[in-house]
Amino acid sequence: MTVQEGLSVGVVRETGPGERRVALVPAVVGRLRAAGLRVLVEADAGAAAWFPDEAYAEQGAVVLPTAALYAEADVLVCVGRLDEAGIGRLRPGQTLVGMLAPLADPGHARLLAERGVTAVSLDGLPRTLSRAQTMDALSSQASVAGYKAVVLAASLYGRYFPMMVTAAGTERPAEVLVLGAGVAGLQAIGTARRLGAVVTAYDVRPEARAEAESVGATFLALDAVGGAAGAGGYARALTAEETEAQQRELAEHVARKDIVVSTAQLPGRRPPLLVTEEAVKGMRAGSVVVDLAASALGGNVAGSLPGRTVVTDGGVTVVGADNLPATMPGAASTAYARNVTALLLHMVADGALVVDLSEEIQAGVVVTHGGAVVHPGTAALLKEALP
Ligand code: NAD
Repeated sequence: MTVQEGLSVGVVRETGPGERRVALVPAVVGRLRAAGLRVLVEADAGAAAWFPDEAYAEQGAVVLPTAALYAEADVLVCVGRLDEAGIGRLRPGQTLVGMLAPLADPGHARLLAERGVTAVSLDGLPRTLSRAQTMDALSSQASVAGYKAVVLAASLYGRYFPMMVTAAGTERPAEVLVLGAGVAGLQAIGTARRLGAVVTAYDVRPEARAEAESVGATFLALDAVGGAAGAGGYARALTAEETEAQQRELAEHVARKDIVVSTAQLPGRRPPLLVTEEAVKGMRAGSVVVDLAASALGGNVAGSLPGRTVVTDGGVTVVGADNLPATMPGAASTAYARNVTALLLHMVADGALVVDLSEEIQAGVVVTHGGAVVHPGTAALLKEALP
């Protein structure tokens, strides 16, 4: 157990491409100060999310230039990873809290360990623990993404979402299909319903049915795949035969929809391909597909690429989503700041940060400590990668 006295928390300015979020917002500064922490803010850290330096200062935070912030803070909080310059400023004994994705890039964790930094990553949180829910940044950000995916789809769709009865005639409501009814999918369903669309949802986890129905979707049950629940509340990967049968059966449903929002993910793996090129070809001109799972490794929709919107020869608009939470920086930062604050307050006792790897939440989030990679999953990946 290690104790650091007189804790100051420094909010860094994000440098990732298109990143507009900030790790702490002025509204949480008071809570941290009440717990005996000093809050330091890098100049302009919240500017892109419309939180000016003055708003932090009004809450009692101290705004500092970059070098002074890194020199003074005991704990640095960020959203995405620091860039090379930021990492170069870290000093041994400092703590870094953010969404550091150690399982996607264990080499980065090793780098932080070598610098003597205690790295804490919110994406390692044990999500099924109810006392960790307020710290669940994966959920808070997925929820923003699910909402924004539908708003994007609605703005690209050339027709109404709700049924419209006007003197000029009646328009039928849009038919929306949400693939993957996890956190993002459920928020997408609710948002599309609030806009007046008729919503169908599909997932391979059996418990997703009741959850999707509770937010207003009709659940689509496929003959192709039975229940495919995996560990920790996630789905398991399907076999090649199941995948092919799923794609074939889904294509018939996709063809009848105006909007498809796909959100299916598998922990630590590339996202499953649910909508094939053939299925996109089967959609009507004017239809819109938003793939929240788009990644460099592929997404749920054939050909979708993060940050790219294409209109197919058949007139279907396919949006590869790329960090949608960053496009709603006010809401996403506010939720993230609450998650970070809850985690910090969980780790702080008597105004000091207490690292205790025997505690369940910390065992999930603490990636490096005392010069070593202590997170078992990340350490195992590093060991595997050794020649
Ligand atoms: P996720 O982002 O990993 O995946 C999104 C959805 O895609 C999941 O519902 C998954 O079942 C689905 N999916 C995966 N492969 C699929 C396929 N081939 N076809 C169709 N759907 C597929 O999931 P998430 O949103 O992070 O949520 C994962 C789980 O964690 C859910 O059960 C969620 O309820 C749970 N969760 C629990 C808590 C809690 O208990 N406090 C908090 C957050 C999340």
